[in-house]
This record gives sequence, structure tokens and C-alpha cells, in this order.
Amino acid sequence: MTPSPEPPLASTPGAVPSLEVKGLAYAYPDGTQALYGVDVTIGRGERVALLGPNGAGKTTLVLHLNGILNGGLGEVRVGGLQVDPKDKKSLREIRRRVGIVFQDPDDQLFMPTVREDVAFGPANLGMRGAELDRRVRDALGRVGMLDVADRPPQHLSFGQRRRVAVATVLAMEPEILVLDEPSSNLDPASRRELAEILLSLDVTVLMVTHDLPYAAELCPRSVILSGGVIAADAPTRDLLTDADLLKIHRLELPFGFDPAAALR
Ligand code: ADP
Repeated sequence: MTPSPEPPLASTPGAVPSLEVKGLAYAYPDGTQALYGVDVTIGRGERVALLGPNGAGKTTLVLHLNGILNGGLGEVRVGGLQVDPKDKKSLREIRRRVGIVFQDPDDQLFMPTVREDVAFGPANLGMRGAELDRRVRDALGRVGMLDVADRPPQHLSFGQRRRVAVATVLAMEPEILVLDEPSSNLDPASRRELAEILLSLDVTVLMVTHDLPYAAELCPRSVILSGGVIAADAPTRDLLTDADLLKIHRLELPFGFDPAAALR
């Protein structure tokens, strides 16, 4: 395993954070309280893993980042802009700034060719011609998928489709890339290739994952969400070497994985 490089990463001092979540509390319409006052700030250029057991509130938190869920207490700001579901114009900008890559790439790819899928978002923003081509080429180049631009997404492997899904989001030049279980269902080579791609991107990342070695490799910082509250927020190295903390929050390292050795 490649140890996490030291942050190139470190958020720029004084810069507006990519993400600020303050006092976020939310109950679903059936009364289930999923979040109880979540505070987290992610600086520009940071890569942060969001860890936590099933039912912790991770999805609920992510769905607040671009206003899909709303109506609770607290506030969310992306690059300084407040998520306000009543303001349709600013919500459009929020959705450009928050690039969510869902677990199943097939939820994100629906056009006849890869190129059209990647062009879809920027074209919706009104981009055309050479500028649009540049966006598409740039996004596909960043995930190493330029050579499949004219193929139908459904003819690609699962790993390639996930990379294209990342490109559809990168084409929007997001403020923050939110990845939901990016390593799920990938074979070891595809998993490693995606890690190399993610490490090469110059973008703020929030990665929801149960794959603790992947968090160790990619994210210098991790946040544990448990029972709807932030239970820990610290260097990934410190969290993954705290056996009691992991146990309390039902987080398990794979057999034989030694975080202290991997993150020396
Ligand atoms: P995670 O993504 O960490 O597994 P979720 O955000 O999906 O957690 O869920 C947090 C809590 O909210 C859980 O108690 C879950 O059962 C509940 N929940 C999730 N979605 C809904 C929903 N649509 N209606 C009611 N409760 C929900």
C-alpha cells in the first residue's frame, strides 16, 4: 500500500472552506431522527473520509450537501455559498459545486456514448462548441478514459464505468467531489487504478466508505459519524490505530491489515 502522501492538500490558510456544515439536524418525515447537530468543515484541497456504521447518517448528510434533503436545522455552505432549497438559482450553482459520484455508475450514465454523458452537465449549464469539447476531453483525460469517448457506457467494464461517472462530475469543475463507496465492487487492479486517479486530482474530496484501507491510502483525515453525531474527527492514522474507537463504532479493519505499518 502506498502511504498517504503529505497533503499537497493542506487547505490554503485563509481560503473559504469547500464545505461548512454547522449544527445540522434532520428528522425524516416518519419522525426518525437521522442527524443530531453535525458540525464539520473541510478546507479547500483536503481529502476526508466519512466513516461510520450502517444507519449512522452518512447518506442523510451527503444528501444535504446539495439540497436533496432539507428542512431540518442548521446550515450547509459550499465554497461560502449557503445551500438554500428555496433559492432555485443558487441551488443550481450548489449542484454544480457538489459533485456526487453515486455507488452505482449506472445511476449516472444514461447517454448513448461516454462523450455525451460527460458533456451532459456542462451542456446543461449552457456550454457549447470548443469550450464544451475542452471540458469533456479534460475530464476524461483526468480519469484516463479519453480512448473510450465514443463508446456506449454499457459496453465498458464496471471499473471503467465508475471512472466515467467520476468524469461526468469533474466536467462540472466542482468545489467538492463526494464519493459514495468508490472502491465497492472493484477488482484489485481497478481499485488501485481508481486510487491513483483520485490521488492525482487537485480537488477537495469527501469519501464515504467502509473500506478502511482505502480511507488510509487516500484520506489524511477521517470523520466518524455515528448515531447522527460526529464521534471523531482526526488524522486517519490516529483513528485507525485506536482499536477501542473502531470497535465502539462497529468499524473493522480487514484481517491482516495493520494501519500503523501502512501509515508509517
Ligand atoms: P448511513 O448512510 O450511514 O447508513 P442513513 O443516512 O441512510 O445512514 O440513515 C440514518 C438513519 O435514518 C437510520 O436510522 C435510517 O434508518 C434512517 N433513514 C434513512 N432514510 C430514511 C427514510 N427515507 N425515512 C426514514 N428514515 C430513514
